[in-house]
Amino acid sequence: MTQFDMQDPLTQYDKLDIPEQTQTEPGLDSELVPAADHGQSSYVGLGRLKGRKALITGGDSGIGRAVAIAYAREGADVAISYLPSEEPDAQNVKTDIEAAGKKAVLLPGDLSDETYARRLVHEAAEALGGLDIVVNNAGKQIHVDDITKLSTEQLESTFRVNIMAMFWIVQEALEYLPKGGTIINTTSIQAYQPSEGLLDYAATKAAIANFTHGLGKQLIPKGIRVNGVAPGPIWTPLQPSHGQPMEKLTQFGEQAPIGRAGQPAELASAYVFLASQESSYIAGEIIGVTGGQHLP
Ligand code: NAD
Ligand code: MG
Repeated sequence: MTQFDMQDPLTQYDKLDIPEQTQTEPGLDSELVPAADHGQSSYVGLGRLKGRKALITGGDSGIGRAVAIAYAREGADVAISYLPSEEPDAQNVKTDIEAAGKKAVLLPGDLSDETYARRLVHEAAEALGGLDIVVNNAGKQIHVDDITKLSTEQLESTFRVNIMAMFWIVQEALEYLPKGGTIINTTSIQAYQPSEGLLDYAATKAAIANFTHGLGKQLIPKGIRVNGVAPGPIWTPLQPSHGQPMEKLTQFGEQAPIGRAGQPAELASAYVFLASQESSYIAGEIIGVTGGQHLP
């Protein structure tokens, strides 16, 4: 089966049988039970990003990994950022990208560090020989059920990684992005329907949605399109590494109208579309990939 074959979306993937599990943040894809699908056996490229150079933050796992595989198969060279502890996942993605015959650049570091976030862009552009696509996808989600227990350390760290790093990365990327270049930000259904235990995370996702709308307006006169993707519940290492309380984790995604969690592979085409020239008249927009929970 490829991403083009018609099938019932309800049964395209089995309902997940998720055992209790906990990983240290940020978690590894290689330790996720059951394993997620990143499109290795299904995604077929059509040359839609031929010759492009892309930077994907959080490209080691989950949604970022599925996007990295799709971009490479569509003809792009890909640089990814990730935390040093995620090196095993990053090596797997390098193998995925190289299997598509494209260049893979690995740039580990912590995006809460402004110096790294800014340097990352220049190192990616240097290694790739330019930069056409920036996917701001890295994100931190730690569930805390009571606002009085939310530390200032976590609050600040969530904002630095999820939204402040996007400002820093875009500021540096404008040095390289040509006319026709694209920026894609990962927001969330949480921007619009926040869970009670994700106050800091959801607030950053609302900020990302707003940033995407505003930056889209600011940059379209330069010929650069900025858009976003708002995923619903997607099975990635974000969730078992303190992203959800255990009782929600084992039923993850079942509340979506489609009745199951999404797989990272089901996000890839939205990111390809927004990066490619096929979306030429779309700017400052957010595509929901939520299994039926519409955006407002
Ligand atoms: P993931 O854990 O696979 O990816 C998140 C990545 O963020 C990690 O791989 C890590 O490399 C990166 N990251 C986290 N903290 C970092 C730091 N301090 N410095 C540098 N990088 C850091 O999980 P995912 O679900 O694929 O997440 C990708 C994006 O999708 C995130 O922005 C997340 O908020 C968003 N999202 C996920 C879901 C979901 O249900 N999984 C839903 C809506 C939005
Ligand atoms: Mg990861």
